[in-house]
Amino acid sequence: MSVRVRFAPSPTGGLHLGGVRTVLYNYLFARHHGGKFIVRIEDTDQTRFVEGAEQYIFDCLQWCGLEPDESVIHGGEYGPYKQSERKERYRKYAEILVTHGYAYYAFDTKEELEQMREANKTPENPSPQYDHRIRKKMRNSLNLTDAEVKELLEANTPHVIRIKMPENEVVQFTDMIRGEISFDTNLADDKVLLKADGMPTYHLAVVVDDYLMKITHAFRGEEWLSSAPVHLLLWKYLGWEKQMPQWAHLPLILGPNGKLSKRDGAKYGFPVFAMNWTDPRSNEFTEGFKEKGFLPEAFINMLAMLGWNAGTEQELFTKNELIEHFSMERVHAAGAKFDYEKAKWFNHEWMKKLQIADLRLQIEPILSTNGIQINDTAYLDRIIELVRERCTLLTDFVQQAGFFFQTPETIDTDAIKPKWNEEKKQFFTEFASQLNQLNEWNLTAIETTFKNVAAEKNIKAGELQLPMRVMLVGGKFGPAVFQIAELIGMEESVKRIEKALYLLEA
Ligand code: GLU
Repeated sequence: MSVRVRFAPSPTGGLHLGGVRTVLYNYLFARHHGGKFIVRIEDTDQTRFVEGAEQYIFDCLQWCGLEPDESVIHGGEYGPYKQSERKERYRKYAEILVTHGYAYYAFDTKEELEQMREANKTPENPSPQYDHRIRKKMRNSLNLTDAEVKELLEANTPHVIRIKMPENEVVQFTDMIRGEISFDTNLADDKVLLKADGMPTYHLAVVVDDYLMKITHAFRGEEWLSSAPVHLLLWKYLGWEKQMPQWAHLPLILGPNGKLSKRDGAKYGFPVFAMNWTDPRSNEFTEGFKEKGFLPEAFINMLAMLGWNAGTEQELFTKNELIEHFSMERVHAAGAKFDYEKAKWFNHEWMKKLQIADLRLQIEPILSTNGIQINDTAYLDRIIELVRERCTLLTDFVQQAGFFFQTPETIDTDAIKPKWNEEKKQFFTEFASQLNQLNEWNLTAIETTFKNVAAEKNIKAGELQLPMRVMLVGGKFGPAVFQIAELIGMEESVKRIEKALYLLEA
């Protein structure tokens, strides 16, 4: 049996951390077992359809490097991979369930359903469900005669098909993370399987598609645990119990107060979506990890550790190492707390760890957005090497290294002024002039000139480093100052020193 897993998003909005982690665990599991990872778009609820959401999901997966083997985009033998394009397949199964007495037609109108809720509500149960007690009092094929049902169907009376939840039964299954789980069927309602418009609900579609797509393991968020009994019964009632996938319900991701939400991101200033997302209906914007400056390598590494560990102290993993070590049994059931500081720590570690060429690919577009075009890759590589440790996020690179590519717009002369004097002015004037006459431009030549002029003027070299840094960089930051001079070149170094001297006079 070859492993086939799926991620089954509804295209209703941005892809949050929990969603990407579900993708990741599916992906790692599939790769670990040499199986296939499938993405199926679950868009049966047309009222929740959001323009652009499907493409956005695929863009996120591409950015994370978690591309599926089969999907609407990638093709495959089990398509279509979008439920709205599979509509015709579902009704048949709903009808089979009715024929075998596991489901029934329900003709209740909206008003009748409202009346039912009104009439049956109690303080303890303010919104009564259509369950084994209530169904006995409603207009459905369990209570009508065969002739009445036939007549209603022939007259095309709007109806749904509901599952008939058994009474007094216990439904059990083994979750790969949570172990034995059991449910009392009396507590569940008779979920709609096929809607009046002929579309299946999620419950029917997910079971039919997992079966038809030969899914062997179904991993999804903990919020779906309460739906599991309906799904298990459908697998059984459709006669597919032996083919039923193994289930795992992944732990919640927790924010500063309970389940991590979009609002937490806005409130505490961290991203919760993989990539920037603007809801086309409300124009609400949610920030993404990508645009915030995270490396995909760091993002998936951090996500992998939100709920899983390898059983060792190791925290930094490449994707291939994650594939090698991952096992669903090591995912814990308790909620995993998201810590933004830790997320940044992962990114910083990856800024140091990644191959220069890979880092360059991520940095170039950011520089370009900030008006810096690179034509000398070797030069960029040297600078990346020099400042990568100073950057927590990719976006820090612009601030930490922009001065290598552009003359700083402002120079923080206030940082120089308190200790500025005539001697220092003379030093820098002379230093700039000698730099301008150097025959060779390298670290030793620059440093020797600096020391000689300092000795000549009788000033401690240590007192000159800070002003020189501010002159070259614009502020009190950046790597070793002679290295900066060497990299930006003779002309630019001299120009910057002279400009600063001019500003200090003004
Ligand atoms: N369509 C469901 C969702 O939006 C999928 C749940 C499942 O994987 O069964 O998350």
